[in-house]
Amino acid sequence: MRKAQGLTISGYVMNNLTPGPLARWLTGPRFNALPAPAALPAPRLSFEFFPPKTDKLEEQLWACIRRLEPLGPRFVSVTYGAGGSTQERTHATVARLVAETSLTPAAHLTCVGATRDEVDEVARRYWAAGVRHIVALRGDPPAGATEYVPHPGGYAQAEDLVRGLKRVGDFEISVGAYPETHPAALSADADLDFLKRKIDAGATRAITQYFFDAEVFLRFIDRCHAKGITVPIVPGILPVSNFQQVVKFSAMCGASVPAWMGQLFEGLEEDVETRRMVAAVVAAEQVRLLQANGVDEFHFYTLNRPDLTYAIAHILGARPRKD
Ligand SMILES: Cc1cc2nc3c(=O)[nH]c(=O)nc-3n(C[C@H](O)[C@H](O)[C@H](O)COP(=O)(O)OP(=O)(O)OC[C@H]3O[C@@H](n4cnc5c(N)ncnc54)[C@H](O)[C@@H]3O)c2cc1C
Repeated sequence: MRKAQGLTISGYVMNNLTPGPLARWLTGPRFNALPAPAALPAPRLSFEFFPPKTDKLEEQLWACIRRLEPLGPRFVSVTYGAGGSTQERTHATVARLVAETSLTPAAHLTCVGATRDEVDEVARRYWAAGVRHIVALRGDPPAGATEYVPHPGGYAQAEDLVRGLKRVGDFEISVGAYPETHPAALSADADLDFLKRKIDAGATRAITQYFFDAEVFLRFIDRCHAKGITVPIVPGILPVSNFQQVVKFSAMCGASVPAWMGQLFEGLEEDVETRRMVAAVVAAEQVRLLQANGVDEFHFYTLNRPDLTYAIAHILGARPRKD
């Protein structure tokens, strides 16, 4: 009912003097609370690590692994670099995961700088070591190069690698996916065609590049379904511990950093403690919103630091196993 002096809602007359927040509450859409995690399926988790370069980093990694292990992730993955020594470190980390933990490791493997035979040999070594899950990636151009050039005699792109791996052994294969489109893609649609081809070649899961707006991921899921991609698409969650670094890295990998994040981290460059608390809230909001929209599987880019990942997994409802 309108009155001469303003709008009447529940007996309260609004006019130009009505304070802003109250006006929003009275006239805007009302948000319900997010459902309690206990009312939703338990989250399925996976954690990503990178192979350490020094003894000190090795210690940090293993402290991280031991802290996260009781959360019972479905798998943990170890990234793969371009040089021979970093590749050896990936292999050593994966082998130690098999030998010394209850975790199921997934080894990242790329097409960069190696012939098909060499890549197949790495895969055979993994199979012999009991590793059954590979995250198959094309890899990025080496430092200094702007364009990716396949190695002569190598696998040209991830799709070919997936096919090659299936010839080596019946691996479970995960591949990368890009909610905001891979920077080298001709178009968003062409990018999805590439993803579909990787699935058709034998991959059974896609793990996404990180993103910060939950809606970006949910719309991507819609587009995947429209393309007939039905395998699980697992959101890659990056808890932000260093905002400036994330801004730099995101510019290279095509992930957008929303302006609201800049505002949240503004002025905290020298305030590590507050920054970490803000980071936890940002990631918790993101995953809770995804969870409320039906997402029950999450891949965490841990950066070999357990605290934020542990806290956010806890908020999602994950609890340490008792055994
Ligand atoms: C979950 C995840 C984990 C990762 N882990 C690692 C890692 O451990 N080590 C590492 O080096 N990198 C890693 N990366 C980065 C990855 O290697 C890069 O994003 C790389 O540029 C693309 O790899 P891809 O497997 O998605 O490639 P592809 O699926 O082969 O290609 C990606 C996109 O590039 C475009 N494209 C590729 N080939 C062509 C072509 N011939 N013509 C036109 N367009 C083309 C398509 O749009 C395609 O969708 C990871 C990425 C993700 C998402």
